[in-house]
Amino acid sequence: MVKMEQPGPEKVIKQSAYDEKWWNDWVMKGGWRPEAWKIIEMKDGPTLTSLKTERFMIIHRPHANMFNHSYGKVSRFFEGLLEGKLMGTKCPKCGLVYCPPRAHCFNPKCRLAETTWVELPKKGVVHSYTIMAIAWPSMAHLQPLVGAMVRVDGTNTCLPMTMRDIDPEKVNIGLKVNIHISKDAKGDLLDVYATPAEEPKAPKRTEAELKRFREDMDKTREWVKKTFGTKTNK
Ligand SMILES: [Zn+2]
Repeated sequence: MVKMEQPGPEKVIKQSAYDEKWWNDWVMKGGWRPEAWKIIEMKDGPTLTSLKTERFMIIHRPHANMFNHSYGKVSRFFEGLLEGKLMGTKCPKCGLVYCPPRAHCFNPKCRLAETTWVELPKKGVVHSYTIMAIAWPSMAHLQPLVGAMVRVDGTNTCLPMTMRDIDPEKVNIGLKVNIHISKDAKGDLLDVYATPAEEPKAPKRTEAELKRFREDMDKTREWVKKTFGTKTNK
């Protein structure tokens, strides 16, 4: 007879401050309970040339959830962020270094060999980038926001992160960067960001491209200023 065991029980080693009651109360507000309603009239219709005034009822119903994610076998990476460390994994067979980390090597020859943890330097190179004029709410005041895929020195993969202290016009592939971890790290990829480690050189653009680029950036900055006051990312 093989004795079967269940995973657990959970023993908490460390925990950040967490006001469980406050969050539980908050979550309850999203329990599908309507808060209010309104009845409106508006023009609507199947095409923009055939709109008719119609009457609708709208209900205000908050949705709220607390998600509990386990980082599973790559937990060490996120625990590293709390310690201000950038961790990656290395395959003992082929030597590939992963950041973001992989618990098992994806090189077919290694047949899913288990990787080992290594601490990485907080330096890297921009592999590709995008300039965002639409960001998620917590980052909206930082627009235009530069998102970069950064190859951390000594690794074979790219870690996505945002860039700070850089004019979006000057971001370019190959730019050397310093990688930082927020002082109040929460154990999330958003704790990681990059700043230029050298004088950035703008990519080649035609006059027309540059004009269009600057118009877009100006519009974004105007919107940020109007919405959040004077906080803008240059
Ligand atoms: Zn391998």
